[in-house]
Amino acid sequence: MAKVDVQRANPELYEQVKTEQERLKIHCRAQMKVARLCPYCGHKITTIYKGNHGYADEKCPNCGEEVIFPPISFRLSSK
Ligand SMILES: [Zn+2]
Repeated sequence: MAKVDVQRANPELYEQVKTEQERLKIHCRAQMKVARLCPYCGHKITTIYKGNHGYADEKCPNCGEEVIFPPISFRLSSK
């Protein structure tokens, strides 16, 4: 269960964010994506989309290790 019910606590904010998220979802659907895997246990931590990404500090929800990912930059490669 979610700890915070944003939809009920702040319906205005929720609608605003939801609308923006839907827009991003449609945009990202067409993008190439890459999964960032935990180097310790192989668990998928995040999904990143085509573009430039700097260092990212993530905590693996599977093994609890803190993982720092190096910057990544990629373009659509020819298939
Ligand atoms: Zn892990």
